[in-house]
Amino acid sequence: MNDSRPILPEADQARIEQWIHELDQFNATPGEGVTRQYLTDEEWNARLYLRREMEALGLQVEMDCMGDLLGTLPGSEPDLAPVWTGSHFDTVLHGGSFDGAAGVVTALEAVRRIIASGAPRKRNLTVVAYSAEEPARFGIGCIGSRAMAGMLTVPDLKKFCDKDGLSLYDALKARGLNPDDIESCRRKSGDVFCSLELHIEQNSVLERAGVPLGIVKAICAPLNLNVTVTGQAAHAGGMPMSERKDAFAAACEMSLALERMTRENQASEYCTGTVGSISIAPNASNIIPREASFTVDIRDCDAASKDALLTQVQTEFQAIAQRRGVGLAMTLQNNDTPAVSHPALMELLEKSCQSRGIACQQLISGPFHDSMMLASFTPIGMLFVPSRDGLSHCPEEWTDPAHLKAGAQVLGDALLELVNRDTL
Ligand SMILES: [Zn+2]
Repeated sequence: MNDSRPILPEADQARIEQWIHELDQFNATPGEGVTRQYLTDEEWNARLYLRREMEALGLQVEMDCMGDLLGTLPGSEPDLAPVWTGSHFDTVLHGGSFDGAAGVVTALEAVRRIIASGAPRKRNLTVVAYSAEEPARFGIGCIGSRAMAGMLTVPDLKKFCDKDGLSLYDALKARGLNPDDIESCRRKSGDVFCSLELHIEQNSVLERAGVPLGIVKAICAPLNLNVTVTGQAAHAGGMPMSERKDAFAAACEMSLALERMTRENQASEYCTGTVGSISIAPNASNIIPREASFTVDIRDCDAASKDALLTQVQTEFQAIAQRRGVGLAMTLQNNDTPAVSHPALMELLEKSCQSRGIACQQLISGPFHDSMMLASFTPIGMLFVPSRDGLSHCPEEWTDPAHLKAGAQVLGDALLELVNRDTL
């Protein structure tokens, strides 16, 4: 860190807790966790609340056509590419108070401290509250940041629907937004100097290590495969075991093979494989299943490892189908690219932890975040705070406010350094 730069005032833990508490009021399921889904009344009112909070800090606030909020603190050289910080403010159904919100409120607190310090700043500093990181309502995640990355089109918006059949396109229109203008959200390489996002860990690596802050090395990206196995329906008593074409038994063997292959994969530091949804037909107790359809979710922090694993999975599934005499169809839904943090940003976050005397360690993010999308057009860095018992996406989700304070402390110090840097 530059010694001549003013030292920022301490982060205010009570202020952070108050923002979390106030955001909790925008909740469709009080008493049963927090539910704030994209473009519902609760989520919309949370957006208006965050806009007011940004304006109260003196930020210049814009809302883009996906509803992303961008609150900017101008620097002395506003033509330079801005530094971004922030996270999402939507939640899953019956989620917690911290997933997403932690990164928005600590960004607000970091900016509040930078303003209070009166420290000189060259670049603009923008707090971004991203729309719909959770796929909870429309089945697709990172809607705001995906549009910024240019990975979402008007036909996509018309295709994705909620459970009532309302398209994302029509839902945006109903809120007075203009989805036809989606190209205006798009950022290209060089538009943003870099981005830092604080997020809860959603795992228990930090808690087990007793370390308050994590520095993310890479974010795993998902691939999703839909698989249908076709066998032969027959009488559960009449058809001998040796002559069956049981679609469900074949699907089970495939699921176990996936578990083994991901467990044994040595090609990357972290990967997961999950069969999370399955349906069988005709689904009757005395009929051998004719068809089994299931999902495969594979996540990996390394793109080459993920592609190799996909090939291995497809080959093995085919071998199982052939041996059991059943049909097999596999459709790849998406295969996103893992994001790697910029080494200069990891180094800066580590130094910022050291100068505050806060312990930290590097780790991999299994879940994806908006930063994964941002990595396609700007260098990214992520800071993790511990999740109690590793729990997230549930009402029990909890992060110690002292850890949020530590995160806001380090985030603010690093952001002040970045807005004055000429190069990373
Ligand atoms: Zn999140």
